[in-house]
Amino acid sequence: IPNTTNKPLQMRTGIITPCRRLILCAENRKEMEDWMAALKSVQNRENFESTQYSMDHFSGMHNWYACSHARPTYCNVCREALSGVTSHGLSCEVCKFKAHKRCAVRATNNCKWTTLASIGKDIIEDEDGISMPHQWLEGNLPVSAKCTVCDKTCGSVLRLQDWRCLWCKAMVHTTCKEQLSSKCPLGQCKVSVIPPTALNSIDSDGFWKATCPPSCTSPLLVFVNSKSGDNQGVKFLRRFKQLLNPAQVFDLMNGGPHLGLRLFQKFDTFRILVCGGDGSVGWVLSEIDVLMLHKQCQLGVLPLGTGNDLARVLGWGSACDDDAQLPQILEKLERASTKMLDRWSIMVYETKFPRQHSTSTVTEDCSDDSEQILTYEDSVAAHLSKILTSDQHSVVISSAKVLCETVKDFVARVGKAYERNTESSEESEAMAKKVKRPHLMH
Ligand SMILES: [Zn+2]
Ligand SMILES: [Zn+2]
Ligand SMILES: [Zn+2]
Ligand SMILES: [Zn+2]
Repeated sequence: IPNTTNKPLQMRTGIITPCRRLILCAENRKEMEDWMAALKSVQNRENFESTQYSMDHFSGMHNWYACSHARPTYCNVCREALSGVTSHGLSCEVCKFKAHKRCAVRATNNCKWTTLASIGKDIIEDEDGISMPHQWLEGNLPVSAKCTVCDKTCGSVLRLQDWRCLWCKAMVHTTCKEQLSSKCPLGQCKVSVIPPTALNSIDSDGFWKATCPPSCTSPLLVFVNSKSGDNQGVKFLRRFKQLLNPAQVFDLMNGGPHLGLRLFQKFDTFRILVCGGDGSVGWVLSEIDVLMLHKQCQLGVLPLGTGNDLARVLGWGSACDDDAQLPQILEKLERASTKMLDRWSIMVYETKFPRQHSTSTVTEDCSDDSEQILTYEDSVAAHLSKILTSDQHSVVISSAKVLCETVKDFVARVGKAYERNTESSEESEAMAKKVKRPHLMH
């Protein structure tokens, strides 16, 4: 698109992505062509636009990362052991599904459920309405796992054996599974968890809409700044997705707070946990204001990284670095009391006042200065060349003297000019102060 602004040298190009329209500006054609080439080269890569992100949340695809395991671990696809003594392979960061790198492509998209649709045919429908079944994952149980039904040890280090529910964390023998109630009680964090059965519709503008079931008395929306505190943010993100519905956990660095707040806005009340520094908290609070949700939500802070003044003031401590503590932290959060907090924006208007000097004086001053500087330059140049070229001692000495005096004079003049400047800027500052009025806005 040819340039349409009044800046004649600027090139502009419109770029349309699935979610937004951007205008790209460049100084010249060459630069614009470089940009176009760069954009073309990444065109086919996976993009992380916010709506794409929400699709990821609901796709059922596993979120692989490569890792080693301290004990024998088995592939959930081919059932063989993962390779090497360290059982190296891929693990899903949400459901802990294990796979060989070569097997990952064949894994079914059965990651931890997020929506009613993702549960599929397993949904339990009876006189109480719709309920959630357990979501079982086979094998790789922790050491000393006990069967919920018969209370005997279950799992095995020799093969993929026995089951664990991703929600209530119950573990059972294959033979005992039938005896367990088919409805999942959602476990330790059930007050905070939004069961997938509660996510079943999309509102008119395309955002997921959650409806609150009776079990979930105080749903929790989690925002994690994945860039906070070294790698802490990433670890916390992972742990929260394991403990809660992955759809209620959002990475602030990947789409911001908007999506999550839109998802929860139909709830009468809900809680928000922000894991990050003061900046992250401020970001979420601002978005709450934009969506006008401040009456229906309460916000807690899990401080990560540095810059956690707010968390310290509110008694959450200055930094949390242990992701193993998360279940306890969630319980603590369920019992926490709330404090009202006022937020203010301070806007300062500053008006520049003309200097006290009349315009003509200023101009005179300036031209005077520049003329004087020219004579200094000439004098310095002349005497320096004399010093360098002359073979007469007397000439060298007298030139050096003049040079010293010129420099002294010049320095004195610079000092005076500086004083004059500070005086006038003090004057204008004093004037500006008189007219500064802070505007306080809620
Ligand atoms: Zn395999
Ligand atoms: Zn998974
Ligand atoms: Zn369960
Ligand atoms: Zn059993």
